[in-house]
Order: sequence, then C-alpha cells, then structure tokens
Amino acid sequence: MQKQIDGIVIRRINYGESHEIITILTDTAGKLGLFARGSKKSRSKLYPATKLFVDASFTFNYKEGLSLLYDAEIYDYHRRLSEDIMMMAYASYFCELLDRVIPEKEAVGHSYQLLKQLLTLLENGINPKLLRIYLEREVLGLVGIRPKLDGCVRCGGTQDIVGLSLNEGGLLCRKCYRGELLIIQDPMSLRILRAFDRVNLTTLETLDIDESFITEIQALYSALFDQYSGLLIKSRSFLEQL
Ligand SMILES: [Zn+2]
Repeated sequence: MQKQIDGIVIRRINYGESHEIITILTDTAGKLGLFARGSKKSRSKLYPATKLFVDASFTFNYKEGLSLLYDAEIYDYHRRLSEDIMMMAYASYFCELLDRVIPEKEAVGHSYQLLKQLLTLLENGINPKLLRIYLEREVLGLVGIRPKLDGCVRCGGTQDIVGLSLNEGGLLCRKCYRGELLIIQDPMSLRILRAFDRVNLTTLETLDIDESFITEIQALYSALFDQYSGLLIKSRSFLEQL
C-alpha cells in the first residue's frame, strides 16, 4: 500500500554498500523506519532525501516491519546545520532525544512541528541553550514530569517562595518549607524559571536573559531530566564538551 507522510530524518544507518535505513519523525504516525534502496549512490533520486535533518514529504510502500521508501519531495534540507559543528551537535541532540521518547507508528503530541521549529530557529541563530531547555522541558512533559512552578506544591500559595525542590516536584513557600533540599533559591533565577515556563517557541527569541541564568536553568533541567527520564543520550556528552 503506497502512503505519503511529512517527516524529518532523525537517524540514518548504512545497510550494505549502497543502501540506508532511515528513521523519520512524522506528523501523524510517530516514528517510522524506512528502507532506502540504493540511496548512497549519488545518482539515486533518494540520495538527498536520506540526510540527517531533511524535512520532506516521503512516499513509501507501507509494510508491517520496515517500509520501503520510493520518493521524497523535500521541503527543507537544513543544510546550515551540517556546516556548523555547534549547530550540528545541538540538532543531533534534539533528534536523538525525540528518537528516544517517541514510539514507533504512534502519533505523540506535536513532536514533528516542534522539531521543525527547533531546527529552523537553530539555523536562524537563536541561542541553542534556550532551545535545548525548551525541548528538555517538553520531553519531560511528554514522559509525565512537569515541575509545578505556578505556586507552592503544598498550599498553592504564590507568596514567599523559598525555592525549588526536585524531590517534591516543584516550588515550596516559607510556610510549608521543612528543610527539604532546594536546588534553586535565588529569587531572580526562580523568576526566570517561572517566566520560562510560560513561553512558547515563537516568544523564545524575544527573551532577554543573562547567559549565567540560562546556564543555571539549563543545569536545572538537565538535573530533572537525569533524575526522572531514565534516559542516557549519547550525543549529549559531546554537547557538554563544546
Ligand atoms: Zn506552601
């Protein structure tokens, strides 16, 4: 059965001398594996379509196991991402992260649109750290973890917040605080963290945040991610070295 679907290449592996198996993140069917016959030959019409980060409409023959890729109409190559080591590292991390949490053949939220926007913003020079925080926060939400930042986790109060407790899953106010370990206490950082919780991708670039706060919030989300997601993401260690 021939089908067509919009997707972004998030993984590719070689298969023999001339073939590849690619994984695309789709808009309606989660993740999908496609066998690209002969795609490594430069004369193949599939040659440009199997590169990482390519956003395209893929035509394939659907099979229960691995579907066979026929053709692709490319929307965006995202070429700049592969030309800059920093951008490539972040883009690879974004793809790997979504690859790990999105199931096969099952639509989850708006992950395709999210990745499409992230890759475009990355190419347009938006601070990659902000994009990373945004995605890690979304991914934590996808696996059901969202720290409560709109008020105290115990009483819901918004006054006199003393800090954020990872174990309690959110903010604590002075009245409810019983000596729990707090990972963020600085009022300014808490304010930025709460502001960040309300932004969407289109307003992200308008945020004017000091680099030191970005680093702090990124460390927070990385800690949350490590504590709760149970995922080890290979491309992240490379990112930490940059
Ligand atoms: Zn309270």
